Amino acid sequence: MTDISRLQEQRTFFDSGATRTLAFRMQQLLAFKQTIIRYEQQIYEALHADLKKVPEEAWFTENGLLIQELNYAIKHLPGWMKRKKAGTNLLNQPSSSYLYPSPLGVVLVIGPWNFPLQLLLIPVVGAIAAGNTVVIKPSENAPATARLVEKLVTETFPPGLATVIQGDGAVVIPGMMKEFRFDHVFYTGSIPVGKAIYQLAAKDLVPVTLELGGKDPCVVEADARLEVAARRIVLGKFSNAGQMCVSPDYLLVHVSVKEELLRLMKKYILDFFGENPAETYGYNKIINERNFDRLVSYLSQGKIVTGGEHDRTRLFIAPTILEEVNPEAPVMQEEIFGPVLPVFTFTAREEALALIRRNPNPLSFYIFTGSKVNERDWLEQVQFGSGCVNNTALQFTNHHLPFGGVGQSGIGGYHGRHTFDVFTHYKAVMKTPVWFDPALKYPPLKGKLKLLKFFIR
Ligand code: NAD
Repeated sequence: MTDISRLQEQRTFFDSGATRTLAFRMQQLLAFKQTIIRYEQQIYEALHADLKKVPEEAWFTENGLLIQELNYAIKHLPGWMKRKKAGTNLLNQPSSSYLYPSPLGVVLVIGPWNFPLQLLLIPVVGAIAAGNTVVIKPSENAPATARLVEKLVTETFPPGLATVIQGDGAVVIPGMMKEFRFDHVFYTGSIPVGKAIYQLAAKDLVPVTLELGGKDPCVVEADARLEVAARRIVLGKFSNAGQMCVSPDYLLVHVSVKEELLRLMKKYILDFFGENPAETYGYNKIINERNFDRLVSYLSQGKIVTGGEHDRTRLFIAPTILEEVNPEAPVMQEEIFGPVLPVFTFTAREEALALIRRNPNPLSFYIFTGSKVNERDWLEQVQFGSGCVNNTALQFTNHHLPFGGVGQSGIGGYHGRHTFDVFTHYKAVMKTPVWFDPALKYPPLKGKLKLLKFFIR
């Protein structure tokens, strides 16, 4: 059971007004950056223990992205904190109008295990930059990183500003949310848990950001540059052993180029991960036995084109491509979240769209094509959160783009400026001078319709 007095401490710290100033927030962000730099080695060790991540990959997808987010926030915070001028309509002239960024209060950030550092701490950067106090819940499924996060948060921030709560999410989170009203909940994880959090939040009208998952389609058109497509699909699918919310979940390839694309993908799997990926530097492990068993059950749901080797003692599953998969099979009903890629062919776009629409609103969508018309048509016809043309997954690393889902794949987007905005309420204020007060708006209104129609149109 969480000690609710720790959460009250966050409320008291927020209410003290300490987080309101630019100087305070800047000092916290700079200290946070120094900590992340100082703990670089320990970060690599924790990520290796949890997922077998190597330092190069960790920098590319974890602490490097966190530092990028911190640098961006540090650079732009003075501008973000300024009030913004807004327009004023004719009726209210000569008033002036402004948006005042203000923090939300005490916020809860809940992270998943697959990128256990940055998916947890990038939202924290925005929460602190925006002047909130923050309760941080790491995933219990990445215990080494969870322990390290607690250590570095505790060393960096005053306890009232940021605190880490550990434990089984299914127990700890409902416990906290029933006893304490947060001002915002930022959750990254699966759709079923996202729904449970949304329900918990609803009873107190707590706003939420939900960064969820789904089945992300990847389409390769006949006019795509196949060599590049193969390379980028293999990277996006098998990095972190496919345990990425932005990994292509399944492939839809134009029938005329299927054989060549698969030939190239097999070549790149070999180039990137070697003859024996279980031993390859940089090929990651499956997070735990439960996910390993789920993923292995998919291997018999199609014909293996390449891969299929697995070893439960090492939580290893080789990069695997499947064909002849029944769309009704579990591998096409559930988010795969692992190194297994079913491949389908299409001739007309409608066939591919019919398959995509079985799992609507994917988090991400990827289209490989050389044609601008194809590109536009695909982007229009599929509803998705974020995506790429002629690339996969890397949109996540561009902090100028908001990252988030739509419909079933989530609510709200973040990264860069958008992370600050998630944790900010813009107070909308109109200031009216006192030297001018026309009678138009005051009763009696009789006979003023024509004039009102002039001012409100
Ligand atoms: P997980 O099991 O680590 O759970 C995520 C968090 O939810 C943890 O902190 C956990 O403690 C908590 N939790 C678990 N059960 C809970 C419950 N019943 N009530 C409240 N909290 C609970 O991670 P996961 O959910 O298995 O993560 C994988 C999923 O996350 C995939 O669906 C993936 O697509 C999605 N994901 C989305 C993004 C994104 O940015 N949109 C990123 C990564 C992962």
